[in-house]
Amino acid sequence: MSTKTRMSLAAGVLAATVSTAGAQPDPVTVRASSAFDGRGRSVPDATVVVHGGKIVSVESGRSRPATYDLGGLTLLPGLIDTHVHLDTHFGKDGRATSQGETPAQSMLYEAENAYVTLMAGFTTVQSIGSPLDVDMRAAIARGIMPGPRLLTSIRPVNENTGTPEQIRAFVRKVKADGADLVKLFASKSSREGGGQTMTDEQIQAACGEAKAVGLRSWVHAHSPSSVRAATLAGCTTVTHGSQVTDMELRLMQQHATYFEPNIGLVSQNYLENKSRYFGIGNFNEEGFAFTEKGIPMKREMFRKALAVTGLKLLMGTDAGAGAHGRSAEEIIYRVQIAGQPARDALAGTTSINAQSLNLADRIGALAAGLDADLIAVDGNPLEDITALRRVVFVMKGGVVYKNVARSAHK
Ligand SMILES: [Zn+2]
Repeated sequence: MSTKTRMSLAAGVLAATVSTAGAQPDPVTVRASSAFDGRGRSVPDATVVVHGGKIVSVESGRSRPATYDLGGLTLLPGLIDTHVHLDTHFGKDGRATSQGETPAQSMLYEAENAYVTLMAGFTTVQSIGSPLDVDMRAAIARGIMPGPRLLTSIRPVNENTGTPEQIRAFVRKVKADGADLVKLFASKSSREGGGQTMTDEQIQAACGEAKAVGLRSWVHAHSPSSVRAATLAGCTTVTHGSQVTDMELRLMQQHATYFEPNIGLVSQNYLENKSRYFGIGNFNEEGFAFTEKGIPMKREMFRKALAVTGLKLLMGTDAGAGAHGRSAEEIIYRVQIAGQPARDALAGTTSINAQSLNLADRIGALAAGLDADLIAVDGNPLEDITALRRVVFVMKGGVVYKNVARSAHK
């Protein structure tokens, strides 16, 4: 990117940010060359009408004047990442740790991550999860600070949380503290081989109690046995699943368990930033060897998952320090390297992700009655998925947070 382009981009962001404070004409119309509605439908010459923060209509044709005429761009629903760690960052010494920081410093790093995530077109993310998220979620919801709609698990359950009864009490406590979901660590990290850690009874207690109090459950599970236990316990989603076989994939399909593999960003990011992670916890030589071996393994696992008709595949990245703002790389990898059709990958990151969050009636599609979360990308992602790297317009809840369409197209 040239300095001039960078400057005009920055000016565009500033102008867009300032304009959010003032009143916008209502209704607002956003027009582009085409739209993909998130549910499988493409709309040529699309105009989306927005009123009161909601989508009123999605039309083809030019019968109305456009508030935002986005020329050769493609409109998409705001993207959703079901798995980020919004608090993680490279700290003062450039390392992937927040050691020695004040709470205010940690919070500002999280605010930066929220900002770059929204600017990359992700209007909703699920943070899995940190106590900092609760105040960040409230700050973003106040509507001034730019960030994605935020969901959080706050604190996870693991094998040391206690007996099934203690685990149930823990779940009720995180619910009372404001959690949107319950995160379980049911297996070791992939850097330690991924074996099951929580017992079947502990997993049943956590997911059962989550359901009883109206929360979804998200289970970190690599090994086949941990994935089977989570699926049979009725947990909402299995995340990672790097070692699953056809049997577990079919089991998840049969139980309507969502499956959220992370194949295109998280491991690659650790390797790209090895020196910043090395020496922290299990980020040692052995751990990195597992990470490197895991990349082709996960790619093959994903291809098997694609072959299981009816399996509900989610787009979650597990983004940590170094990966924030790059969540689209997971989608691009799935399409370019693992062979998922772009239409399915885009539905995964919009309408199917919204379903998995129990928010399908509010987000995840360009459809009348839903929140006006929409983005525009430079190019047509159905033909060239790398268009997702070129997000030039971001609207969340009817508010425009980014509009660099004109300067980017000069
Ligand atoms: Zn994670």
